This record gives sequence, structure tokens and C-alpha cells, in this order.
Amino acid sequence: MSDPLGIFGGTFDPVHYGHLRLAEESMAHLGLGGVRWIPAGNPPHRDTPQVTAAQRLAMVRTATQDNPRFSVDPAEVESQAPSYTVQTLERLRGELGAQQSLVLLVGADAFAGLASWHRWTEIFDLAHVAVSHRPGFPVEAASLPKALSAQFSRRRMLDVGALKASPGGAIVTFAMTQLAISATQIRKLLANDLSARYLLPDSVLDYISSHSLYRNP
Ligand code: ATP
Repeated sequence: MSDPLGIFGGTFDPVHYGHLRLAEESMAHLGLGGVRWIPAGNPPHRDTPQVTAAQRLAMVRTATQDNPRFSVDPAEVESQAPSYTVQTLERLRGELGAQQSLVLLVGADAFAGLASWHRWTEIFDLAHVAVSHRPGFPVEAASLPKALSAQFSRRRMLDVGALKASPGGAIVTFAMTQLAISATQIRKLLANDLSARYLLPDSVLDYISSHSLYRNP
């Protein structure tokens, strides 16, 4: 069987070093063959005015282009319909086959909200879930909503070898370098004309400035 493939979704509004380190470190910690980045389409409640999904996708492409183990999947951005993770995983299963191990990568904050995702319990039929630690968000059963806590206790594997042993169904956690960087913080800095340098790649900052993104209207 080929190495597990990491699937990394997010709004990436904009992509930053917290995302890049999560993807990079997940490969080493979890034995992934690579990471497929999947920027979300335009979620109605989470849109930043003046920054389009196509621009968020372009920034992810710029940030990841030098890493041959990263690939970028534009399908959610290009789709007209709202994109749900479960549907994206169904599509990937169709594309990659039933045997390929898929590992959905999520930060601890995103994981804590998993039980509100569309058809969320079916996600475990399609992929493993790997939760990375993020400053301020503990990963422990006691701090999760009840239904998610039950899934977490039942599916949690301490040995990441479980990710290679089956196509999906397990939950693992991994400790990454703790970087308290968020896209929210970067958007605020840029809106206030302050420097966001060293929080995200220069190439992304160049893109932001040449397209006049995240400025106050
Ligand atoms: P925002 O501040 O706009 O909410 P964000 O910085 O959290 O954005 P997202 O695009 O929402 O970025 O996150 C995509 C994924 O990356 C999520 O699973 C999130 O938990 C994870 N993530 C984002 N920033 C970090 C970080 N600094 N450390 C670990 N995980 C992170």
C-alpha cells in the first residue's frame, strides 16, 4: 500500500507559517507521502470582502510551490456548490481508490468544532483524522462536545502506524511546533497598515500587496 496522503483543508485567508509548519511536520510525524492542500470555496459566513476564493487559492499555490511533496487541489474553489469536507473526501476516494489511506489534517480548534460539520460521522468512514496541537486549544476528550468526545475516545490510536494499516477510521494527535499565528491576526495587521512580515512567506505578502488585499476599504 502507498504511504498515507494528508488532506489539508482551510480557508487560508491568507495562508501563513502555522499552516505550512502543520503540513510539513505532519509528514514526518505521521509518515505521510505528501499533503494535498484544498482551499475551501466561499463559505457564506466567512468571507473577507475583496478577497476572492481564487485569490486565496493563488496564495496557497505561491506558498507551496517549492515543496514537491505538497500539491494543491482547486476543486472546492472552482465548484459553484457549497463544499463540504465529507463530499470532498468522497470525491478523493473515487479518484484514489478504496485502499489509499487518507489522513484529514486539522488543528485542535477546527477539530473541536467537527461535530457541527455536514455528515460529520461519515468522515471517519472515508479518512483518518489527525489533530495537531494549537496554542490555546487543548486536545483531550473532556474538553470536547459529548458526541465528538465519544468518537475521540473510541477511535483514538496512540500509534501512528494505524494510519498505514487501514484506509481510514482512526483519530491520532500530534504535537507540532507551537505557532500562535492566525489569519485573523494577519488580516488585522494588514488592515491597520502594520507589518505581517515573518508570519507568512514573502511571496504571499508580495501577492497581497500587488493585489491590494486586506486593506481597509
Ligand atoms: P482564521 O484566523 O481566519 O480563523 P486560521 O489561521 O485559523 O484562520 P484556517 O484557514 O481557518 O486558518 O485554518 C486551516 C487549518 O489550519 C485549521 O485546521 C486550523 O486549525 C489550522 N491552523 C491554522 N493556524 C494554525 C496554527 N497556527 N497552528 C496549528 N494549526 C493551525
